[in-house]
Amino acid sequence: MVTNIRSFQAGQCVAHLIEAPSGLILVDAGSPRNEKKILCQLKALGREDLKLIFITHAHFDHYGSAAALRRLTGATIAIHEQDVDFMARGETPLGSVRGRGRIAQVFLPLADLLVRPEPTQADIVFADGHRFIQFDLESTAVHLPGHTPGSSGLIVDNRIVFAGDLLSTTGEPHTQRYYATNWSQISESLDRLKALKPEWVYTGHGRQPLSGEELQRLEVSWD
Ligand SMILES: [Zn+2]
Ligand SMILES: [Zn+2]
Repeated sequence: MVTNIRSFQAGQCVAHLIEAPSGLILVDAGSPRNEKKILCQLKALGREDLKLIFITHAHFDHYGSAAALRRLTGATIAIHEQDVDFMARGETPLGSVRGRGRIAQVFLPLADLLVRPEPTQADIVFADGHRFIQFDLESTAVHLPGHTPGSSGLIVDNRIVFAGDLLSTTGEPHTQRYYATNWSQISESLDRLKALKPEWVYTGHGRQPLSGEELQRLEVSWD
């Protein structure tokens, strides 16, 4: 059972610490050089037993501090099989970019030169439906592609989903509108997420979770 969820800014993305009696799961590891900040969040909970770092997708602001954090805590890193190679090469596949995302398309190669994300090998390479039984917490991966080929959510306790960058709660809740390797998959993944009927959805940007009702009302938004 999840006893607590702590969401916090870790560079550009919002990371989530899931507390359970048997250990902690971190959903997304923030931008590069955020490992100390994340460790402070563990300390604030009075715990050191980080077991799993679940990466929702291979973008630098979601896996950037994962390898450093693994060295500090011994946690294992998990990512979907279709994003594992991008992360291993330290890449960030932006796909086809829309609207304000075009700024990042120019900015990202420059940022890469300054703070290059560490190429990161995964310990667990999962497919849709993978259950993380070794962590003694009911948690299952759900493939939600579109933003990247391997974008995935984590379902815990059959009622809470961490959905990565399929959705954002920065400003009004909305679906991904800037970056996708496959835009048509965004609406399919939204349908898939709705069909799970979660009580709460946590996103990769924006600290406020989305309620189940808000999710059901959400339509695909194009900027
Ligand atoms: Zn992101
Ligand atoms: Zn992303």
